[in-house]
Amino acid sequence: MKNETRVAVIGGGPAGLMAATVLNKAGLAVDIFDTKASAGCKFLVAGRGGLNLTHSEPAAIFASRYGNNAEIFQKILAGFSPHDLCAWLRELGVETFIGSSGRVFPKDATAHDILKIWVETLGRCGVAFHYQHRWQGFSQAGAPLFLAETGEILEFPATALLLALGGASWPQTGSDGNWVPILAAWGIQLAPFRPTNCGVEVTWSEHFRTHFSGKPLKNVLLRCGDQQASGDIMITAHGLEGGPVYALSALIRDRLEETCPVPLFLDLKRDLPQERILEKLAQRRGKESLANFLRKAIHLTGPAYSLLRETCSPEELKNPMALAGHLKNLLIPISKTRPLAEAISSAGGITFAEVTPDLMLRNLPGVFVAGEMLDWEAPTGGYLLQGAFSTGYLAARGLLKWLKTTPPTTARLFLPN
Ligand SMILES: Cc1cc2nc3c(=O)[nH]c(=O)nc-3n(C[C@H](O)[C@H](O)[C@H](O)COP(=O)(O)OP(=O)(O)OC[C@H]3O[C@@H](n4cnc5c(N)ncnc54)[C@H](O)[C@@H]3O)c2cc1C
Repeated sequence: MKNETRVAVIGGGPAGLMAATVLNKAGLAVDIFDTKASAGCKFLVAGRGGLNLTHSEPAAIFASRYGNNAEIFQKILAGFSPHDLCAWLRELGVETFIGSSGRVFPKDATAHDILKIWVETLGRCGVAFHYQHRWQGFSQAGAPLFLAETGEILEFPATALLLALGGASWPQTGSDGNWVPILAAWGIQLAPFRPTNCGVEVTWSEHFRTHFSGKPLKNVLLRCGDQQASGDIMITAHGLEGGPVYALSALIRDRLEETCPVPLFLDLKRDLPQERILEKLAQRRGKESLANFLRKAIHLTGPAYSLLRETCSPEELKNPMALAGHLKNLLIPISKTRPLAEAISSAGGITFAEVTPDLMLRNLPGVFVAGEMLDWEAPTGGYLLQGAFSTGYLAARGLLKWLKTTPPTTARLFLPN
């Protein structure tokens, strides 16, 4: 490959950094641009709750987590698999371990440690980092334009471009979807951004909100339509948060587009069958309060009991049959999902119809795209980071292939006349 080839990677998140790693290894001069003052801001946020890097489950099940895009991701993941990710991390000096749920985490390193080693390694290998450079679009000659911190508009003479600008959740990390109008102006089809892996809104009474926000509901089972998820969830001022809620949030979001509210059912005692609960309720005697009785007889915690009181009528609470039914199948009407800005990830962005199998924009030859700016979604469990890493890898490999087959003179022109 010619030495004068310069590639601009725009977006220094996991997808952009992985792409830069591949391009740098191939001997290209790589410049990374990011609007923030440092790389990987969202990666650092992901590290706050325990950095779940990927998952250890078999490839076909892994790919199925990408829903409608499972077939596309089967190919993407074959190029850079969870196994490849762990092997690459080991090269970087980061060991991983598989948790009891099959999720993969770094062994003795934080997100901050990994990012530091990664950025330092890239820097040592000659990758140039340009922070506080916000991509603005293209010059007349087809070169990327940046708004620098100084207020200047700078043009960068890149031979090819790789965009990894992220989705649109947690805009404070730099991924704010600001690039949408730029690409839309070039006729690229974009699906609207929507929250995914997010909390849901429930209209609580003032009393319940004040007293139970921040309290957990332990080991519950949530059901919506034909999907279910279990684990601990959190009562919040706005509704409910937590892993099982996030797992159902895409389905709830889609259903809310057709009907409101969407019924969510909670099993507050998933370890006890309804008949067993009924037997226990039949033993209630004397003047003992219901709260006390339920705590002793079926180990129902304070927040769970209060949720029953919040959602059931006094008559239903007095009726053992109705009460047992509610304990196993408590209806919570969901009025909204939490806003996109709060979601762990976003659905929407560049549709796969707009890119070649190598992730090059069909309308803008020489411009490759990767990461959450593509229109895919997946649950939590390491699928989001793996998706970012694998698409970053694939787009970089595609870019290398494109450079080999494209004469350097035409390679400079991304833009159609
Ligand atoms: C709270 C939270 C927890 C998470 N936990 C996990 C987890 O445990 N496991 C998991 O798999 N995933 C997790 N994720 C999701 C994961 O962090 C993202 O999927 C991943 O960071 C996406 O990578 P990306 O490179 O596509 O985009 P991003 O990481 O969003 O990076 C995009 C970059 O582009 C830059 N940029 C945007 N616009 C411009 C512009 N115009 N010019 C220049 N630069 C620009 C941004 O500043 C940013 O640095 C979590 C996310 C959140 C918010």
